[in-house]
Amino acid sequence: MSTCPVCLNPARRIAIGTAYDVLCKVCGPYIIGYPLAHFLERERFEKRHILSGYIRNRSEQGVKEQIKDKEDMETILDSVSEPSGPFEAIDLLLKYLRRKGGKASEPVQLENDYSIVFAKDRNEFDNYLRMAHELGYIEHRKGGRCYKLKTEGWLQLDKLDKLAEQEPSLEIKLEDAEGFLARIKKEIEASSLEEDFKEIALYDLEQAKLAYQSRAFKACIVMLGAVLEGLMLGTIRRPEVLQRIQTDPPKIVKELGLNDPQLADKIAGELGFEDYKNIIHHLMPDIEKLHVEGIQTFRNTIHPWKTAKEPAIYKDPSQTRAMVHLTSLQLLAQHILSWTP
Ligand SMILES: [Zn+2]
Repeated sequence: MSTCPVCLNPARRIAIGTAYDVLCKVCGPYIIGYPLAHFLERERFEKRHILSGYIRNRSEQGVKEQIKDKEDMETILDSVSEPSGPFEAIDLLLKYLRRKGGKASEPVQLENDYSIVFAKDRNEFDNYLRMAHELGYIEHRKGGRCYKLKTEGWLQLDKLDKLAEQEPSLEIKLEDAEGFLARIKKEIEASSLEEDFKEIALYDLEQAKLAYQSRAFKACIVMLGAVLEGLMLGTIRRPEVLQRIQTDPPKIVKELGLNDPQLADKIAGELGFEDYKNIIHHLMPDIEKLHVEGIQTFRNTIHPWKTAKEPAIYKDPSQTRAMVHLTSLQLLAQHILSWTP
């Protein structure tokens, strides 16, 4: 039997052209270029468990990782954060048990699965299992290495979910885009915007999602800007917000004629993104303190002049930039839609 170049355990390995197709019981299935595979087999390498953990977690998400060369590997290692201690490793273990065992807490066989928690070997993994057991999170089922979640474990998972909801910007993973899109969708659906505005915003959001999925990140950010514009305008048109604007109007609204019965339609027809932004700032001066991308950057993305002047930021946006806008939009949407005068 051949070995897995990443974790050095016995593994099935087939040569295909210039790469190996590896099926490892620890790392899962993946493809790796010859030179990198040979390098990893030959050299002492401290970060095997991180690479192995990454490949395994990706395969759990249904992705068969392809690592062509050292550069690919470096990119991966830069993007992965291994658990900072046993407690974070145990959190990963709980998530795995939930994924595999489902809501019925079915027992899960944990044989060669130590890379799930980025453990270096089975001993380290067994230590986490023991600690999780001591904490009352899991219980051992007789016969083999079978474990299931207990009530305490579910409580801990609940805490983790809530933390992730409150502080989405703390640890952003690129794969989480769908989660943020879903949260924005929920915010819009639950809002008190007019039905027309909801529909338009939800359509634009769906377009942003399609763009993200096909890696058209600039198109994605542009559509997120359209969603934001809709949310700002829809909020300004809410009757109680309009009333507030009429008692303390920003200059631009005064010019439209405060007592005009068509004021809401005039705001929609005659003003644009910049004006909505200024009105929102006037109403909610604290919004730029959210520590997110400001509203303006959504607009700047489609300014050719901005793109020419600051290409590092606005030209050819990366997946990370799209993700930053996505997480920012989620917080902005939450703030704007829940605001009451
Ligand atoms: Zn392996």
